[in-house]
Amino acid sequence: MNHLFPDGDERVSIDNMVTLLLAQITRHVDYGSVVPTFNLAKFRDELAAFDFAGPMSFREYNELIRWTIRQMEHGIVHITHPRYFGLFNPKPTFPAEIADRITAAFNPQLATWTTSPAAVEIESHVIRAVSARIGLPPGSTGHFTAGGSEANFTAVLLALIKFCPRFVEEGARAFPGQPVFYVSKESHLAWLKIAQQIAYNFGLWYHVDAAWGGGLIASDTLRHRLVGLERADSVTIDAHKWFATTMGCGMFVTQHSELLATSFYVLTGYMPSHEVSVDPYVTSIQWSRRFLGLRLFLSLAATGWEGYAGHVEHALTMIGLLEKQLIEHGWIIVNESPVGVLCFIPPSGSVRQIVKQVVTSGTAWVSVAVTEGREVIRACVTCGTTTAEDISELVNTLMRAEQTTHGDQ
Ligand SMILES: *Cc1c(COP(=O)(O)O)cnc(C)c1O
Repeated sequence: MNHLFPDGDERVSIDNMVTLLLAQITRHVDYGSVVPTFNLAKFRDELAAFDFAGPMSFREYNELIRWTIRQMEHGIVHITHPRYFGLFNPKPTFPAEIADRITAAFNPQLATWTTSPAAVEIESHVIRAVSARIGLPPGSTGHFTAGGSEANFTAVLLALIKFCPRFVEEGARAFPGQPVFYVSKESHLAWLKIAQQIAYNFGLWYHVDAAWGGGLIASDTLRHRLVGLERADSVTIDAHKWFATTMGCGMFVTQHSELLATSFYVLTGYMPSHEVSVDPYVTSIQWSRRFLGLRLFLSLAATGWEGYAGHVEHALTMIGLLEKQLIEHGWIIVNESPVGVLCFIPPSGSVRQIVKQVVTSGTAWVSVAVTEGREVIRACVTCGTTTAEDISELVNTLMRAEQTTHGDQ
């Protein structure tokens, strides 16, 4: 068979097999271990046997796909698990998965409007909607990025160019002195408002990195926690965080659309167009550009802001439950959790030992964090299908770990 470019029936048969396998296995994942359970030595032997010497038979190729899915089932931390209380990596929405499939099939090039007008306009439409929802002034603009890091880097470039336009041509040498960045030490939301006051008075660029917390814009009852966001010079929100698209999907929005063009404008003979009003490659870091925005477009269109409001509110309800149960059992809460991240310490025992024991049990995933100079246990509700039973199970697992590690200090 033509493995790389199969036609009609072959393609459909493999596609169907993958669809059925994934539907089955993603259900198993919810009932299995959160952490890897595979035999690493065996896996490495099997992996080493792939010598890429020649093509596979159809049967071998089928087995390869099954093998790959099995390795994913048993060889990764399952961030899609309802008891993954981890870093900001949610279980992706199903529309986002579908978007990835559609995008992969057409593989549109979004460097220019000319090559993919439908895709570029869908992305712009979503960015305008997000910008309006933040409350930025009309005319604000932005684009999808590979993630929060790229979006934050874009903000830094824009700020440098705003205060020193010669930076574009001359780089850092153009500055008469060293540029200064002020960052909040521990980013408490209350600082948003204060920073915005300070930034305005002193003529600074005010960037808000709301990579995770930006999800709150969806909720009419919770969005006041992001007060001041609407006055930011620029904002980062990761769609792959609380909006739960598949990974590698950030957003950058700014009131200073003209600076995007100044920063990234390039003129080459071979590109079909170079319009700053429409062509992404002249207003952003990326050149070849994947159709990332479809993930949020399909999710938002399907469920509306209302659906996402329910999603973020549910996470906060679950965190509230966790907080209440931990307090009842004598654990100490060390932070407020306006964006669904709870930090706490046990009544006795070592934070590290407890976290290690919880994670190796496979029942739940939490992490160690350092806040205000001390180690704490950190739990964040990232999965949209976490239930009250999952919270109770986490509390039981934590308490078991606290009791068994108690003597080990
Ligand atoms: C996740 C995160 C980042 C980094 O974003 P990536 O999408 O991982 O590149 C930056 N800032 C904050 C506040 C984040 O939560």
